[in-house]
Amino acid sequence: MTSKYFGHLQTRGLNKLGDVIIPGEGIFPSFSSTGFASQVDRMLDYMYEDDREGLTLLMTLFAFMPSFFIRWIVLLSEKNAIFPDLIGAPLRMIQLGLKGLILTLYYSNIEDSQKLGRKIMEGIKWQTGVAPLEGDVTNVERSKCTTSWKNPSSEETVTVFERSKAAEREISSLTVSQRLKYITALKKLILDEKEKIVDLIQKDTGKGRSDALFSEIFGILDHLTFLEKESIKALKDETVKTPIALMGKKSQLFYEGLGTILIISPWNYPFYQAIVPLTVSFVAGNATIYKPSEFTPLEGLVEDLLFRAGFKEDWVQIVYGDGKTGASLIDQRPDKIFFTGSVATGKKIMAKASEQLIPVELELGGKDPLIVFEDANIDRAVAGALWGSLTNTGQSCTSVERVYVQESVFEKFKAKMVEKAKTIKQEIDKDGDSDIGSMTTESQVKIVKSHLDDALSKGAVLLTGNDWNGSDKMIPPLVFENINSQMKICKEETFGPILPLYSFIDEQDAIHMANDSEFGLSASVWTADKSRAIRVSRKIKTGNVSINNVMLTEGNPYLPFGGVKNSGIGRYKGVHGLRSFCNMKSILIDGNSGKIEANWFPYTKRKYELFSGMTEGLFGGGILNFIKFLIYGLKLESYSDKVGKKGRV
Ligand code: NAD
Repeated sequence: MTSKYFGHLQTRGLNKLGDVIIPGEGIFPSFSSTGFASQVDRMLDYMYEDDREGLTLLMTLFAFMPSFFIRWIVLLSEKNAIFPDLIGAPLRMIQLGLKGLILTLYYSNIEDSQKLGRKIMEGIKWQTGVAPLEGDVTNVERSKCTTSWKNPSSEETVTVFERSKAAEREISSLTVSQRLKYITALKKLILDEKEKIVDLIQKDTGKGRSDALFSEIFGILDHLTFLEKESIKALKDETVKTPIALMGKKSQLFYEGLGTILIISPWNYPFYQAIVPLTVSFVAGNATIYKPSEFTPLEGLVEDLLFRAGFKEDWVQIVYGDGKTGASLIDQRPDKIFFTGSVATGKKIMAKASEQLIPVELELGGKDPLIVFEDANIDRAVAGALWGSLTNTGQSCTSVERVYVQESVFEKFKAKMVEKAKTIKQEIDKDGDSDIGSMTTESQVKIVKSHLDDALSKGAVLLTGNDWNGSDKMIPPLVFENINSQMKICKEETFGPILPLYSFIDEQDAIHMANDSEFGLSASVWTADKSRAIRVSRKIKTGNVSINNVMLTEGNPYLPFGGVKNSGIGRYKGVHGLRSFCNMKSILIDGNSGKIEANWFPYTKRKYELFSGMTEGLFGGGILNFIKFLIYGLKLESYSDKVGKKGRV
């Protein structure tokens, strides 16, 4: 079949572009070898004349361009985000348009896609090469790890930290790309076995099936993909600038593992809070000791997946237990503690860590504000606020717990919110057909109840959820108004399905209310005015802000995540987060010459004068001073070498 619009030349250009985007690997054929280019009319038929002409011209150019140049254009278009809008926007269009054209032709070719689809499915099964998750993983012997370990051959008992020393050496000797092979195997296992994993998550937490799939499984796969794509570049030795005063030398940064990282996790996203930090730790070059929450240990699951992905047992050791177990692990002096949990425990951990000067990263609680201005799309803001407050039954560190709505649209927003909240479907479902599940722990139910009672006794009005009996783990959405700053629900983290509505007058008022909190984890701003959104985002004291969306910064694995104020210390995820699990080692390289440096002994009066002149020249600014720097610098260098070798005379 030939194209009505593209001649031989343009088809050649299209195939060249296609091979840059899909060069073919393993079972995936290259774009040009599929012959799909000949079916381009299926897309061109639907294009405007102008766009079609533009594309024809571009493909003609590609036909004559060398492939490396096309690759460069595609690469540049992928980096569109780093350019100002004027250049970034056309690059973004190129990226979306050209990639869209090629990928659509490749994957949506009706007849052939079924064959291709079959090939791909076969390939994935074949590549995984790991046994499926069978039976009851809680019986897996590997899960019986405690803070110490008995060697079966010698009967000798060693602590998990002693055991991880050999693992540290082994992991640090692997290149990043070798470590990533285990990450890829783990990713495939999680993808293949996602339904069984969701079953286990639901068993421990009581959450809705969709919550488990969207927030835990998808989030993990996205994160592992980030590691696959970015870690080699992020952890590569880096050459940094060396100032002119150190001429002739070279400066580098090495990103190395710290040793053994202790990860202590909470109960709300037990699978995500296990896999994400421990894979970051591993890829950064560390051995890991992981202690899950005693409430949602997912016993046996994580070690089973790691084992089948090829991880050696001592690379990541999982220790089950409560707070006391966590504290005893800190006593064994990990090289870093990565803690996610409550403020109260975070303080205890930091205090204990300080006794041995152990670096800590604390990912703690929040009381996140959501600010809706009158020009926002109200239906979208209501739907966003509803999801942000209720996802995972409100048991997320970045749950929306304060909803600020501009007074002119407050009543409208409230009416829509109440109506929508009543449609929420609550069930521990088996098929994904439920919005929220139950609370996970009895103690958290009690906290929600105490915040509710306190708020009602101080004048709050409950608009939905009046039928909750105060003890059932199935807490329905609780929409409030008439909240004041004396209420616990205004100040403390509730960690349940609450939606307290507040009204504000103007921008300053909204910023003031949002900042009136001891927490600073994340926030969201809803408005049609982009510059206002950015202005307000800058003024909120918080670690993350989503604009016209909610809880979405943590949805992008390229963005670092963490809080300010009582919400924590440090950042994980993204390149910054990956490097935070490293010892950033600074290296300065000089030649093996006989030269004696100017700043070494002996210090003499003459050296002082020359150094002083050189300093004035270097930092004085302007061309004359620069010449002075060069003259004094050269004199200082030869004098220092001479006096250094002969000694003070
Ligand atoms: P928690 O502080 O009670 O427990 C967290 C972990 O710490 C558990 O594994 C627990 O066994 C352990 N622990 C308790 N006392 C300890 C001690 N003295 N020494 C060492 N370890 C100890 O928190 P939780 O109730 O499991 O989780 C809910 C909290 O976690 C909420 O405040 C929530 O906001 C926060 N959280 C924060 C984030 C984030 O990324 N910022 C993410 C999820 C949850």
